[in-house]
Amino acid sequence: MTEQPETVSLYQFFQRFPNEESARQYFENNRWAGEVSCPHCGSLSVALVKNMKPMPYRCRDCRQHFSVRTGTVLAESRLPLHKWLMAIYMMTTARKGIPSTQMARELGITQKSAWFLAQRIRETWMVISEDDMGPDVQVDETYIGGKEANKHANKRLHQGRGATGKTAVIGILETNGRVRAEPIGKLDKTHLQRFVRANAKEGATVTTDSFRSHTGLSDAYTHKTVNHSVGEYVRDQAHTNGIESFWALLKRGHYGIFHSMSSKHLHRYVNEFSFRHNTKQAGTMGFIEATVARTVGKRLTYKELINA
Ligand SMILES: [Zn+2]
Repeated sequence: MTEQPETVSLYQFFQRFPNEESARQYFENNRWAGEVSCPHCGSLSVALVKNMKPMPYRCRDCRQHFSVRTGTVLAESRLPLHKWLMAIYMMTTARKGIPSTQMARELGITQKSAWFLAQRIRETWMVISEDDMGPDVQVDETYIGGKEANKHANKRLHQGRGATGKTAVIGILETNGRVRAEPIGKLDKTHLQRFVRANAKEGATVTTDSFRSHTGLSDAYTHKTVNHSVGEYVRDQAHTNGIESFWALLKRGHYGIFHSMSSKHLHRYVNEFSFRHNTKQAGTMGFIEATVARTVGKRLTYKELINA
């Protein structure tokens, strides 16, 4: 039996974080748990310098000044921590994602800052390396984009299963568990099976549809197929419903909210949906806590983002 994750309403959220000071305390506790350490040298010999607003701490060993933002994805941001926290809250609670225009209105900032803010929060969610999934996984592929994407059709996109100007996305889902998904250059056997091998433990049961690029998986896995083209959705208990529900939500986010996820940033949006899926049992504060913890050691400049 799974317990209902604890959700925090907007009203409760504002009671808990009414101002900048409460947000600062939250970020500091999350990072240091009451024992401030210097992000430059790791020393615990730290002085609180009165009236040094942007850099309130000074290290007695390396003599550098710092704040809770130093060495995190917030380092170069001038937005209040309270707005960062509110933005993370909004992105937690919006199952289909939140457009930057709406975030801008709610936070009283420009759409450009809201977009950059959201991209830096997404940056914290990017997966670095993870363990294998299994023992029972579903693998499926889909296309994101369409009319909007046609205008800037990526010329290097190799066409796979009948989809012009769209970007192929591959995903793997543990039955009743985590999901991982990413845009994939080409939906051929080599690329698909490289993705499966990178994510699923050898010997796992892998369910796919009967797309021919999946043939050959049985060398390392127990491979089950469902033939969607003949209207078959379940065969011997095997199905790909979990990953298909995930695609459905991602597409609702794409068509309804983001309108045109540019193919340049698509991996960030796909990862956002995966992260939300994978943390849904953590509840609102668990999600926020995990996100704030992941801000440390990350950096993303506006220039990097637009030139990527
Ligand atoms: Zn130091």
